[in-house]
Amino acid sequence: MATSYSGYMGKVLELDLTTRTAKEYPWTDEDRRLYIGGKIMAAKILDGMLTGHEDALSAENPVVISTGPLTGTGAPCSSRFNISALSPQTGIVASSNCGGTFGYHLKKAGLDALVIRGACETRSWISIENGEVEFHDAEADGVWGLRVTPAQERIEELLVQKWGARRAFGQLVIGPAGENLVLYAGVTSDERAAGRTGLGAVLGFKNVKGIAVFGNHEITVADPVRNAAWNKRFFKTLREHPLTGKQMPRMGTPGLVSPMQMRGMLATRNFSAGRFDAFDKVSGETLAEEANVANRGCVSCPIRCSRTVELDGQLVKGPELETLGLLSANIENDDLNVVLRLNHALNELGMDTISCAGTLAWAMEANERGLWECGLSFGSAQELEGIIEDIAYRRGIGADLADGSKRLARKYGGEEFAIQSKGLELSAYEPRRAVGMGLGYAVSNRGGCHLNGGYLVIMEGLGLFCDPQTPKAKADMTMMFQDLMEATAAAGQCLFSTYVFFPSMLITRPRGLVTTVVNKAAPHVGWALRAINKFPRAVHMHMPILPHTRSFEYATGMKMKMGDFMRSGERGYTLERYISQRFGISAKDDTLPKRLTDTPQDPADPTTKVPLDELKQTYYEARGWTPDGRPKVSTLQKLKIV
Ligand code: SF4
Repeated sequence: MATSYSGYMGKVLELDLTTRTAKEYPWTDEDRRLYIGGKIMAAKILDGMLTGHEDALSAENPVVISTGPLTGTGAPCSSRFNISALSPQTGIVASSNCGGTFGYHLKKAGLDALVIRGACETRSWISIENGEVEFHDAEADGVWGLRVTPAQERIEELLVQKWGARRAFGQLVIGPAGENLVLYAGVTSDERAAGRTGLGAVLGFKNVKGIAVFGNHEITVADPVRNAAWNKRFFKTLREHPLTGKQMPRMGTPGLVSPMQMRGMLATRNFSAGRFDAFDKVSGETLAEEANVANRGCVSCPIRCSRTVELDGQLVKGPELETLGLLSANIENDDLNVVLRLNHALNELGMDTISCAGTLAWAMEANERGLWECGLSFGSAQELEGIIEDIAYRRGIGADLADGSKRLARKYGGEEFAIQSKGLELSAYEPRRAVGMGLGYAVSNRGGCHLNGGYLVIMEGLGLFCDPQTPKAKADMTMMFQDLMEATAAAGQCLFSTYVFFPSMLITRPRGLVTTVVNKAAPHVGWALRAINKFPRAVHMHMPILPHTRSFEYATGMKMKMGDFMRSGERGYTLERYISQRFGISAKDDTLPKRLTDTPQDPADPTTKVPLDELKQTYYEARGWTPDGRPKVSTLQKLKIV
């Protein structure tokens, strides 16, 4: 269905794996205006397909792989694509975002998105060339069973044989973990992963080992001159910003280990503490000095946050902050080399590092408390490489561990220290020292995710320092950040590009007068944030803190001021919740383990726990949801969802 907007390719392909047929999925310009792309577009498509009775691991679970209008337009950090489906971890709609090469090449193949239904009868991999689909036998081709790097190499080899020449193309694959239905298996493209929520297991259930895309369509923009000039400026802004131009290139996300330690936010010993005595052995500084040999980045990204380290004479992807923290402090491992080995093993087996590490921490504590004699204990990380392998192949205790901490705790007890929300393990930020982040983890549509939860920790100590213990204004901030990040991801840009929301001077002068005033004032401006959240169209302009909207307008030709952007994000966020309601989600599911809500991190300071009930109610009010956490009809109507 052609489009009058640039940036979009104007075609969505619906693929039925059961019948091996493909047809165009109807997607109109009105849909593009309301559900701009990426995960918001995916939510709208899933809304029309999910009734509330489907299982994640079933042929009835549709998978939507979508790009944003900025993907491949030359905008900074715009190589992203999204995968949405029911998650086997949470049982509800989940999305996972990825860099790599797939999104760009999907658009070159002439497609904005793929809608995948049914399941392949036999183990397969799929190639799509300029919209034409071909199914291949993954076993006969020697692709099934491979880890993610050899699998991608083998697919490339097969395509080169077919084409008789090497061509630029994109692909995504699952590893052995996805094949064996590990509930937190991810999907990998190049060396980047759509790691969270177990969507690798969904593809594994469907017998899809990988998808390769190729094409020679042109990705056009509406105003090439202004688009190029604006993107040049946007790149410059990112290069000059202290977070995206200095800290991230120098240390990547692991640069946050030290500030988290300082603030008591570094999850330690299965979130029983916020500081790790040996943190300096595993900090971003140590990683940069002792292990990092190069920086890598996604296409069109000036930040290049990815670390490359040497392991057994090979150059491999280094850990992100969440992996580093959860495989060190949270399991009391102070050996950086062990972290690098475990990270590499998890990546190659195609598993979410966060959920796996969180599950291992739960198992260590359960073992020490005598609930589950699995032989794992804090401080003994050397043996974990074999355990991780067992998880990927569901062998021995790996078969249990492959189901994640929520299910394990139901089976053996210990729910109060299963550090997850809705079945998804939390990232490495200890929320008792950042209560807004605690709210975000609890209400996040995809479960315990820092990004989907609004990433308020950046306001509460890692960028600014707005009283991390007060609940004041946190609900409204959470909503605002969630919506802005939702729209940024849907447009096709990396969430790290949103660091420029924070003017440089606030970061470089943490004790300066302006920063001090902002920090002190922030908890008292909830009313103002509420007004903006309620009437975002009042911000009918481009704002310097959000260069994304001009990139959007110049690329697509669609009007997109800051208020429109926020409303798009709100629509997407609310729509995901609306769908998940059909699967029984309500306020009772927006929870955290008791360790985080009932036990102060510092026994002498009762504020060092998450006052979740209070935060949740203000959050629901801000969102126009009922006290039971359901979007009101008036809210759905306002957002044109119904
Ligand atoms: S900041 Fe990192 S994850 Fe984001 S686009 Fe750049 S390299 Fe990729």
